Amino acid sequence: MTVSAHSDARSGISVARLAERGADLLRQEDPDLHAILDRENRRQARSLVMVASSSVVDPSVLACLASPVVNVTAEGYPGRRYHAGCAQVDEIEQLAIDRARRLFGAEYANVQPHSASVANELALSALLRPGDVILGMDLHQGGHLTHGSRASFSGQYFQAHGYGLDEHGRIDIGAVRALARRTRPRLIICGATAYSRTVDFAAFRSVADEVGALLLADISHVAGLVVAGLHPNPVDHAHITTTCTHKQLFGPRGGLVLLGRDATTPVPGGHGSTLAEAMQRSVFPFFQGAPAVNVIAAKARAFDRCATTEFRDLAARIVDDARALADAFARFGYRVVSGGTDNHIVLLDLTDTGLSGLVAQNALESVGILVNKNHVPGDRRPASVTSGLRLGTNTLAVRGAGPVDMPTCARLADRVLRAVQPRGDRDFHLDAGTAEQVSADVAALCERWPLPRYPADDLACTTPAWPS
Ligand SMILES: *Cc1c(COP(=O)(O)O)cnc(C)c1O
Repeated sequence: MTVSAHSDARSGISVARLAERGADLLRQEDPDLHAILDRENRRQARSLVMVASSSVVDPSVLACLASPVVNVTAEGYPGRRYHAGCAQVDEIEQLAIDRARRLFGAEYANVQPHSASVANELALSALLRPGDVILGMDLHQGGHLTHGSRASFSGQYFQAHGYGLDEHGRIDIGAVRALARRTRPRLIICGATAYSRTVDFAAFRSVADEVGALLLADISHVAGLVVAGLHPNPVDHAHITTTCTHKQLFGPRGGLVLLGRDATTPVPGGHGSTLAEAMQRSVFPFFQGAPAVNVIAAKARAFDRCATTEFRDLAARIVDDARALADAFARFGYRVVSGGTDNHIVLLDLTDTGLSGLVAQNALESVGILVNKNHVPGDRRPASVTSGLRLGTNTLAVRGAGPVDMPTCARLADRVLRAVQPRGDRDFHLDAGTAEQVSADVAALCERWPLPRYPADDLACTTPAWPS
């Protein structure tokens, strides 16, 4: 333990020098790659990002990702590694685990999953056998690929049924209950990727208990609101909770598994293993090998930042921004799915506008406004085209934009969507006047809202941030 205590103040400087050295070497030896990465920095600083899954990691999180701790092979868990040289790595992983548990009030945390999709994969495989029945939110209604879509392992290895939204664009728990009674799933998955309303985890648990199913809550999209107390916490309602760490936790790309009061519950048919033991084994050695320790360090750093009052304020701004954004779009005549939002997501139904989601997304991107096309209830277009847009306020809020700024953001998008002339579902024409004016307004806004704590010279843009 004392080994790390000997590293003195100079080590902090050497980390900074390493990053500088690396950037110098990259510039000298690989100018092509360096130029691309450089352009990407500028694109991020100069785009109005309203992608719902977007986030901005803090420079201190980036420093963890770039740490030489990445050189360490560390199969196993703290105190039980299969390799030597893991003293610091053990401390790092334990810190990440402790912080995650404290943040979510969890009994158990596993910080090794490489992504949320992988976290779902290993949760499903810890609990189920191939062919078991699962119930998840339909992909086209707002669910995630890993919740039972035929395009993913979850719909191929398991017999998946999907629930959806009612005519008001909300989850109808009565319909979920009826479907569960009929299909008798072994596992129910709740949580979504494109759903703007609060998920009632307690109600889902009562359905699961009634039909003898386990409950998995995937909070990838709303984890930050859960931390801030602005969305119910599923950790003690679900048997297993999963999340990614790179959306609303503003951390590195990665996954996290949490267990609450059911951590010591035996896995049905699991030969006496508890859920915690089954999860531990499912991550390593069943699915993954050595963990990405630099990413775990970055997770620990992000969790620490999420525990601050500043983060609570940010989460509150994210929700306030989303409400203001939804209101603004509604006032400009757009159909907001479910009539509004409880979280950071605003779903627009473009069916009546004559624009496909794809045309809208591409037209907006051409002026530096980033959103993503998304299926809306009753959508007849394929997933690659769709009839809707999904917007989110994580990045706007972290860059300092508040509710009073949302009408401006909505108006910029509206100017483009009004002016764009679709040529079918994929191509479009946008007049040069509108494109130039809106691009200039977007650039001005981005200058007003720099990436937080990033060096300001990233904004000094000499080349266009996005292709015209
Ligand atoms: C984004 C998302 C995931 C996937 O996360 P990755 O880490 O990119 O695999 C899983 N579940 C939900 C609900 C998501 O929104």
